[in-house]
Amino acid sequence: MAGLQEILDDIAAALADETDRGKVATYIPQLARIDVRKFGIAAALPDGSTLTAGDAAEPFSIQSISKVFTLAIALGRLGESLWRHVGREPSGQRFNSIVQLEYEDGRPRNPFINAGAIAVTDAILAGHSPKEVLGEILQFVRAAAGDDDIHINGSVAQSEKATGHLNFALAHFMRAHGVLQHAPDLTLGTYFHQCAIEMSCAQLARAGLFLTDAPGVPRMISRGRARRICAIMLTCGHYDASGDFAFQVGLPGKSGVGGGILMIAPGRASVAIWSPGLNAQGNSRLGTKAAHMLAERTGWSVFDGRTLRA
Ligand code: GLU
Repeated sequence: MAGLQEILDDIAAALADETDRGKVATYIPQLARIDVRKFGIAAALPDGSTLTAGDAAEPFSIQSISKVFTLAIALGRLGESLWRHVGREPSGQRFNSIVQLEYEDGRPRNPFINAGAIAVTDAILAGHSPKEVLGEILQFVRAAAGDDDIHINGSVAQSEKATGHLNFALAHFMRAHGVLQHAPDLTLGTYFHQCAIEMSCAQLARAGLFLTDAPGVPRMISRGRARRICAIMLTCGHYDASGDFAFQVGLPGKSGVGGGILMIAPGRASVAIWSPGLNAQGNSRLGTKAAHMLAERTGWSVFDGRTLRA
């Protein structure tokens, strides 16, 4: 296998001239302004090194990737009782779909669709103010990345609040069913701010290392919990394209509408990719392609016996 740096450089070069880059998310007005030509990729390794290519030092809106970190915090805070608020089955629906909630009495399918993530944020708000919860999320992410220069972009959060009618609909629906404990305005205010955290690929890759369970990596949560978060990333991390991501790439991943993907190669690396143009399912178009290329070139897969023996 070529060296990892060479592989990252090859992927960035191969995608640089791609003309069909997908469409940036426009339903959050601040995200509509991002240049669709951006592309970055970073791999953080257990030895402390981070390899990068392209625009890997430029901060972007992590959006739904924040749901991985809030799930880790919620499991730490509530343990198994978190699953009373939210399920862990793939939804097979769009990320902001409301239809399943009606059939299933307001209990969202999993923590990574919008409804489920809103329920998780609501659960960690119990006994805390939004400011405290956002402080805790930032503290967790900064500790995981080993970098204090990670912030929330307030204007992205405000921009989403002004236009987030679908998320308000989901929250009110869940509140009506007693799934949310707090006023939708309070829970969503917190949720929009967590989604508006900005990180570069290099920072995000390092922040995901705790999920690799690799020797030498600081343990932020128990090994069993890290494994379960990865399982949910694999089955639910790409909305209604999760099955295809598992099929094509074979690694746990979580995407966001900012065009980012966090991907975990257990025991080996944490990878972040950013390309803001999205495909029809709301996942980064070139990011998904890059993830596939990386898995092919490295042979990394949770379904590969050699990986498991390593
Ligand atoms: N803040 C976004 C929303 O709630 C997150 C969605 C995503 O990144 O997929 O619509």
